[in-house]
Amino acid sequence: MSRLIDAYDAAFFDLDGVIYLGPLAVEGATSALDEVRRLGKTVMFVTNNAARSAQVVIDQLNSLGFHADDANVLTSAQVAVTHIARELPAGAKVLVSGSASLAELVERAGLVPVQTAADQPDAVLQGYDPAMTWPRLDEAALAIQAGARWYATNDDASRPTERGLVPGAGGAIAVVAGTVGGQPTIFGKPFRPMLTEAVRRTGANRPIFVGDRIDTDIVGAASADLDSLLVFSGAHGKADLVVTGPGERPTHIGADVRALLAPVRSVEVGPGRASCRGQIAEATAGQVHLLSTPATLETQLDALWAITQLVWNDPALDCAKALAGLDQVR
Ligand SMILES: [Mg+2]
Repeated sequence: MSRLIDAYDAAFFDLDGVIYLGPLAVEGATSALDEVRRLGKTVMFVTNNAARSAQVVIDQLNSLGFHADDANVLTSAQVAVTHIARELPAGAKVLVSGSASLAELVERAGLVPVQTAADQPDAVLQGYDPAMTWPRLDEAALAIQAGARWYATNDDASRPTERGLVPGAGGAIAVVAGTVGGQPTIFGKPFRPMLTEAVRRTGANRPIFVGDRIDTDIVGAASADLDSLLVFSGAHGKADLVVTGPGERPTHIGADVRALLAPVRSVEVGPGRASCRGQIAEATAGQVHLLSTPATLETQLDALWAITQLVWNDPALDCAKALAGLDQVR
């Protein structure tokens, strides 16, 4: 049996919604990753979260049974600091508008973290900090206006918590951008540096990126010219998938990371008709309908993949009713 992962030499994973959900591992994910490794594939965990140090991420992954270490965890903070240390001379001053662990990383890279515009920093680096204050944003804005280069680890607009969404790093960037104009250089997904750094560190020739968000993960994979697997264990679902445009479309879909070990969901597309492993979707009079009534999660995903091909080819098609019938897919 050929498996999806067979075409790749490495798999990169987003964390929240892919590997774990809050404090719990996604069902089946630990044994699936063990199997991916057993097949000789390189595994790397990739996270936009720049507030927590890589060691904290490593400890959390290990506590859930994922075998993480320095070599297979990459944070947007690490990517940002790696790039900045290449662009600035050793000893350059960086105003760190982010967490203490980000400042530590800056220091370890041979740069000097500072806190005020009066220190005349060469660069400003913004990153998520739950203890961010308005005076610190003032310093960042003043330093940029005085000519400092402007960088940010990532620009996630929001951060999911048990109580709901709260502002992410993108919120602090927007505040500064509203004051000084323009945009920083950003390293996290969906921007290219994050995944190209993952490729560089692993030496992978043909990696696949697995994510649960279209706007960061799938777009990020596309911008780094990587194939992607969209899993439905996290943020986005079928309604988000069908409306994606070119550059936002996953190469594969699956219920969760276990899809890497299953056969590829192949699809045949003709005029007004698409079929995926026996599930057939047709378009008539502007409406998409299924010729079958799939009852299991896997057959419903087959049907979704067929529907998706039709709508991607003709975004004017109405597939709402066909999607509503796929009651087991998020
Ligand atoms: Mg995620």
